[in-house]
Amino acid sequence: MKQVFATAAAVFATQASAVAVWGQCGGKGWSGGTTCDSGSVCVAQNDYYSQCIPGTASTTATTLKTTTRATTTTVPASTTKVSTSVVSTSKASSTTVAPTTTKASTTAAGSTSAAGSTTTGTPVSASGNPFAGRQIYANPYYSSEIFTSAIPSLPASLQAKASAVANVGTYVWLDTAAKVPTMDTYLADIASKNAAGASPPILGAFVVYDLPNRDCAAYSSNGEYLVANGGLAKYYAYIDSIAAIIKKYPTTQINLVIEPDSLGNLVTNLNVAKCQEAQPAYESGVEYAMKTLNFANVAMYLDAGHAGWLGWSANIGPAAQLFARLYKAAGSPSSVRGLATNVANYNAFTIASAPSYTQGNSNYDEKLYIDNLAPLLVQYGYPAHFIVDVSRNGVQPTKQQAWGDWCNVIGTGFGVKPTTNTGDSLVDAFVWVKPGGEGDGTSDSSATRYDSHCGLSDALQPAPEAGTWFQAYFQQLLQNAAF
Ligand code: BGC
Repeated sequence: MKQVFATAAAVFATQASAVAVWGQCGGKGWSGGTTCDSGSVCVAQNDYYSQCIPGTASTTATTLKTTTRATTTTVPASTTKVSTSVVSTSKASSTTVAPTTTKASTTAAGSTSAAGSTTTGTPVSASGNPFAGRQIYANPYYSSEIFTSAIPSLPASLQAKASAVANVGTYVWLDTAAKVPTMDTYLADIASKNAAGASPPILGAFVVYDLPNRDCAAYSSNGEYLVANGGLAKYYAYIDSIAAIIKKYPTTQINLVIEPDSLGNLVTNLNVAKCQEAQPAYESGVEYAMKTLNFANVAMYLDAGHAGWLGWSANIGPAAQLFARLYKAAGSPSSVRGLATNVANYNAFTIASAPSYTQGNSNYDEKLYIDNLAPLLVQYGYPAHFIVDVSRNGVQPTKQQAWGDWCNVIGTGFGVKPTTNTGDSLVDAFVWVKPGGEGDGTSDSSATRYDSHCGLSDALQPAPEAGTWFQAYFQQLLQNAAF
């Protein structure tokens, strides 16, 4: 199988024939064709992978992903992204929230969408559970990673399972402004599949992830914008470009996870200079995203860390207050449906007994965290609905040394496939936000975005840059999969 594939690739390279739509057309180490079939253009998805995407050159960028490496040297190496103990230090200002002005856990329903539709069609309301009666788009990028990068090198015994994973709906991370046009491509594909009678209808799922000073308490996912370099204005333009695309698809249901880790860092990591600098920009940026993306067919979930981070008793209240304060500052947008937890993390939704690394936190799984956070959200006035990322929580890691270890943790497996059958009325769906097999951060200690968490003995190594394909990790997830 491997042999055949290599031969085919060599022939392909020699003939330099055009690459078919969705095929690989570039990336580090790629020696195959770089010209796409007519009607599609080559778009860099990351340093290692470019893909032929339907469309014209104007909607793509071949200069994508210059990944501005943040030049911060001030973050102490010991700074953790996730607090591993009860954090009593900094937290976001919380004094302005009046507990009496509650907006209880109503649905995010509303007929007051800010959207001005540019095309005709029946708007899809964000009312109720947006996942009910719908399936999540299995995006061609993730499936191409699996078919092109993964399957040819997998043992035969895992290949069928891998190709099943390629059909699972996952979120598309808009982690650079240059990736935003892919949203247009995917939504067009979804709209046409729905028009052709897809059953159940398909929804598009995306992660909004480009705040200035991104990943301020760690290194591995530092982004392209810096506060000190006009990053907030650039972020507003990034959000505007997302809004412009959404307006083109008023009849397609769209699900957005907003800015993983950002508000969590404002709750626990303001002692880190880069987070302190980021605070006003994170707040304004998230508020702007909530306001600007408030369309009737959109459901937004702000990222809420996970049980081992904001679930600690010292953090859970300040977190609820922060979410509510920003939500109200944004005008309580009707499309804000709730919170996303466990994004790119590994916690079980429910577990019979607390793993040792949970160190006495009574909220030792995501359900406990959610069930205890919900009343606080109701009290402070934020919609208490949730989605939980289960993409990598199929088994609990046995080698994890600390709860705050987040990078490529050894011993994890794919979790259950996305479902609305969550057993908890607060939880709209279990979803796969992190595309399993994409790495969390490089283990190359000479890399600019090297984070020491990715060099720990419970982190699988050698590991590539965050977001790029990590074959050995994918294989681990398959071997330990919950299905
Ligand atoms: C990376 C992103 C990537 C995402 C999903 C994050 O850790 O920073 O670039 O898109 O993971 O794999």
